[in-house]
Amino acid sequence: MTLLRDAPDAGEFTTRRPTDGTAVATYRTAGEADVADAVRRARAGAEFWRAEGFAGRRRHLLRWKAAIANRAGELADLIAAETGKPGSDALLEVMLTLTHLDWAAKHAEGVLKRRKVKAGVMNYNQHASLGYEPYGVIGVIGPWNYPLYTPMGSISYALAAGNAVVFKPSELTPGPATWIAERWAEAVGHDVLTVVVGDGATGAALVRGGVDKVAFTGSSRTAKRVMAACAERLVPLVAECGGKDALIVAADADLDAAADFVVFGGMGNAGQTCVGVERVYVVDSVRDALVQKVVERAERLRVRDESPHYGPMTLGSQTDVVAGHVRSALEAGGRAVLGGPESIDGRVIDPIVLVDVDEQSPAVQEETFGPVVIVNTVRSVDEAVERANGTAYGLGAAIFTKDAHLGLRAAERLRAGAVTINSVLGFAAIPTLSFGGVKESGFGRIHGADGLREFSTAKSIARQTRKAALNLLSFDRSEKDMHLVARLIPMLHGRAK
Ligand code: NAD
Repeated sequence: MTLLRDAPDAGEFTTRRPTDGTAVATYRTAGEADVADAVRRARAGAEFWRAEGFAGRRRHLLRWKAAIANRAGELADLIAAETGKPGSDALLEVMLTLTHLDWAAKHAEGVLKRRKVKAGVMNYNQHASLGYEPYGVIGVIGPWNYPLYTPMGSISYALAAGNAVVFKPSELTPGPATWIAERWAEAVGHDVLTVVVGDGATGAALVRGGVDKVAFTGSSRTAKRVMAACAERLVPLVAECGGKDALIVAADADLDAAADFVVFGGMGNAGQTCVGVERVYVVDSVRDALVQKVVERAERLRVRDESPHYGPMTLGSQTDVVAGHVRSALEAGGRAVLGGPESIDGRVIDPIVLVDVDEQSPAVQEETFGPVVIVNTVRSVDEAVERANGTAYGLGAAIFTKDAHLGLRAAERLRAGAVTINSVLGFAAIPTLSFGGVKESGFGRIHGADGLREFSTAKSIARQTRKAALNLLSFDRSEKDMHLVARLIPMLHGRAK
């Protein structure tokens, strides 16, 4: 329910534009009973959805996709209103989201349908097949920074794999969630996708509410709480959490391209991107040139005029985290080459570039989630990789080099779920690539074939086609049969090749 009123009743809350604080909409908070009801309805929806089969689901998903695409501007406006990001960024988010929805709808059957697999010589009388089946009902919990793209990375793949979904969006951004659920109700219905709105308490109720799997995207801190609640009922979890992504610049890199991507990856969406660039490790011979180019580009960004490059901070309290990191970086000997504490004015933060920051400082170790980039100098790409791997996080990473071999070698050694070479965020738009983190950035994968399998359970079927000549799975097996087995073991496995 969304009503435009200034004073919400108890049990209601109002979202506000981060740009000017005006009200966007008022929502009724879903309590425990509402969540339980949504999960119960979703369970019935899951039956309908499963029975539709791959072909039916593909048809429905593509109809829903078209319904969203044909009113994309409306959806982008909602995203922009509640996040404060520029309309162009919001529209790009819609486009990226639909690319994944399209891929998931069209490839679920190819990835998940039952297929014959080899049974092996000893099982010549078995027809073995492997299929992937839906869990049932997936509870999706989303963040606010990309309120459509991020949760839809779970929702699209979960639906395409045959599950019903109950989605709890961030309390800062319920608008896009309720809008896509309305388009679903018109295009498909049957409670296959429903939305419950509220804060962490509603999310916690969903985790406890009888869902078959939870797909959580948000901070590592909340993920731990969600995981503890999942553990009580042995509910499986995919956790997409925070990051502290590093971008490495080798001596042979195209410095203009690297600087362009550093500034876009670090400052875009006001730095509120899980795979945004927060740290740069540049090899000493090109350090000064890179820093100069980064500063030149970053100081050209407009954040306070009519059509800014990025908006204000969506979550007001994140400003304090940014200020704390900048302060501690400077106190520990770091230097500001663009902006500084004075760049933070209410929710609006001008670009900040810091250099030579102590590696143990919170600014280097913890997620800042603001338009701040730290540039530290290293002697080699090897040292850069070591430092890049030196935080608790492992979501994304990037390297800039003209040497394809060096780039690939570094990419393989970076402890991250996704690495780009000579770009940033390149993987986000490629639906065949899986996405997810390691370490405190989470586990499990969304997107691509792995994303479809993440929302499926593998089921093996072995069909005996005829009686085995050597029937070992019977109390009728003889001493002679077992002598044969004793001879077969070294014959089959006795050679190390
Ligand atoms: P958050 O952890 O504060 O909240 C995430 C969601 O969890 C919200 O919907 C919130 O209401 C809900 N929640 C809070 N407490 C809960 C509980 N006890 N049980 C269940 N749900 C609960 O995160 P946020 O501030 O909304 O999002 C920003 C964070 O998300 C950043 O750390 C960012 O890096 C991360 N993020 C990660 C990815 C990714 O794909 N890895 C993508 C986007 C954002």
